[in-house]
Order: sequence, then C-alpha cells, then structure tokens
Amino acid sequence: ATRILLDSRPVGWPTPENFRIEEVALPELEAGQVRVRNEFLSVDPYMRGRMSDARSYVAPYALGAQITGGAIGRVVASRVDGMPEGSVVLHQHGWSDVVQGDAATFRIVPDIPGLPLSVRLHVLGMTGMTAYVGLTRIAALREGETVFISGAAGAVGTAAGQIARHLGAGRVIGSAGTPEKVALLTQKYGYDAGFDYHDGDVRELLAQAAPEGIDVFFDNVGGDHLQAALASFRDGGRAALCGAISSYNTTDRAAGPDNMANLITRGLTLRGFTLGDHLDLSAEFQQRMTGWFEDGGIVYDETIVDGIENTVQAFLDMMRGGNIGKMLVRI
Ligand code: NDP
Repeated sequence: ATRILLDSRPVGWPTPENFRIEEVALPELEAGQVRVRNEFLSVDPYMRGRMSDARSYVAPYALGAQITGGAIGRVVASRVDGMPEGSVVLHQHGWSDVVQGDAATFRIVPDIPGLPLSVRLHVLGMTGMTAYVGLTRIAALREGETVFISGAAGAVGTAAGQIARHLGAGRVIGSAGTPEKVALLTQKYGYDAGFDYHDGDVRELLAQAAPEGIDVFFDNVGGDHLQAALASFRDGGRAALCGAISSYNTTDRAAGPDNMANLITRGLTLRGFTLGDHLDLSAEFQQRMTGWFEDGGIVYDETIVDGIENTVQAFLDMMRGGNIGKMLVRI
C-alpha cells in the first residue's frame, strides 16, 4: 500500500516537507478483518488542527503515523461474515490507497443509484450533516429569517445555502474568495446574494448585502467575518460557530471581534459545535437530505485531484481556496 505520514509538525502554513509518502507491505488479513481499496479520500480543514500538538477536540496525529480521516472504498478481501468482497464501505483510516483492519472500523453504505460514492464524504456525509446540524439544532433557523453563511462556496457552505432554503429561510447571503465562486452561490446554490470578501471591509460588504440585518450566522471563517456578523445582527440573532479557517494557519494570535458587547445589547446567542457531539441527528439528516435530493433540490460540486501522491497538494490547495464544493482525492 502507498500511504502518507505526518513527518513533522507544521508551524503556520503546512508544506509538502511536513509529510512523507511510503510504500508498506500489508500483513496477512486476520480473522475478523477486511482489506479495502479506497476510491476517494477526504481532505478536510480540521486535519490542520490535528497536525499541531495543541489541545483540540480530536487528538493530534502522531509523528510518523498515517494521516487518518474520512475515505470510501470497496472491500477487496474479507475474513468476516457480513462484509463480503465488493461491499462499499466508509471509514476513518485515511490517506492510503489500500487500508485494512477490524471490520468494526468500517461501515457498509448502500449504493445510491445515479450518484457517485464520493457524495458519502460530503453532501450526504460529514460536511452536509455539519451544515444541517448547524442550521437546525445550533442556530434554530426559523422560516423567513435572513441567514449569512461564510465560506459559502466550500463543502459545508454549498450544502448550508441549499439546506437554509429548504428550511424556509427568507434571505440567504454568502461570502467566498473569488468572483467565480460568488457567481455560483446565486446561480446554483440557492443564495440570494453573495460577496467576495477580498472586495473591501467585510462589515461594509455584509451591510450592503443585508441592509435590514441578519438573524442567523453560520460561520466557517471566524475573525473579520464574525465581527461583521456581530455588527449586522438583529436583536435575538443566533450564530452557529462551525469553523474559523481564517486562523488555522496563522502563527500570531488570531484577531477577534471588537464588538462583542453587541451580544449583550442585542441579546445574541453564539454557539460553537462539533459534529461529533450531534450524531444523534444522523438518521433525521439522512432522511431529509435524501428526500431533498430525490426532489432534485440538492446540487453539489466536487474538486477532484487524481492520485494518492497528490493528496498533500490537494489538502494545501483546499486550505488556500483552490476548491469549489468538496475537495477530494480519487485513487
Ligand atoms: P471548504 O470546502 O469550505 O474549504 C475550505 C475553504 O476555506 C477554502 O475553499 C477557502 O475558500 C476558505 N478559506 C480559506 N482561508 C480563508 C480565509 N482566510 N478567509 C475566508 N475563507 C477562507 O472546507 P469545509 O467545507 O470542509 O469546511 C468549512 C469549515 O467548516 C471549516 O472551517 C471547517 O473547519 C469547518 N467544519 C467544522 C465541522 C464541525 O464539526 N464544527 C465539521 C466540518 C467542517 P475561499 O476561496 O472562499 O477563501
């Protein structure tokens, strides 16, 4: 198997030198194990946190160990009943072309007619469910409300715009990093307005896009975007704090909002969350999302990089905004 290891801990922006690619001979399968040939690997922003040794909600990657994370593939050898060769399985073994282990660390997922396996890694998987949990349970979006979503053209953001629409949002506004992405927000992803956050002060850009203010903020970015939302919130506004990617690769202390007092005067609620604490919503999410899909009401983009050897580059490109929708590696 070809796999990718963390070789040294990045300080600031990771570089290819922080990783190592190696060939390993896999041991014989033991009873109860399966071997899986991966078809798609996920590269995700949270992995950056695990490359550092700071305390976080998931343990740091060990130096010299394979980068683990979401992936999907097919069983090519099996020594367990109930997970035969050919089964499609989702798992967390991560950045390797072939992985093996106890069957309990893999989960069989049914094929969805007409859709590629990869959707299990995003719109019908982790990032789609993150968008759903954030808008429903965390921000308690109500019909008719105005929603602002940062990082809107990425995997979570493209799902969040559409889910907000399905939940009956009145007006949906998104921000992203290129004019091409901003155009897609309104043309394809259910947004009413969008702006490129490079075009000026985010507070002014948001105020222009939402002249009457916002009720809900779904934040993937943090920093200047959170500050802008705090300025635009109407009374009783709620924020689902999902990510803060603007600070993941900075070495200086991330700048925080200077207008936190609005929390008091406007009665705002800011609530952070990680998906892992809300897995009880899994069945509800799958059911509603699949329904919206079947109605033709959900679309997605994938930015696909071919070859396990390009996984690190795919990860770095995603962190810099090189993706539209979900960044994936195809094996
Ligand atoms: P994306 O597909 O959105 O990819 C990351 C995007 O971040 C890039 O495409 C880039 O787009 C944007 N970006 C990078 N740097 C900046 C910056 N300085 N300011 C603004 N935007 C920036 O990734 P995901 O959809 O997988 O994740 C989105 C967010 O959700 C992340 O913050 C992630 O950590 C978080 N997340 C949280 C989970 C949870 O359980 N709480 C679960 C899953 C994800 P652009 O061109 O627009 O800059």
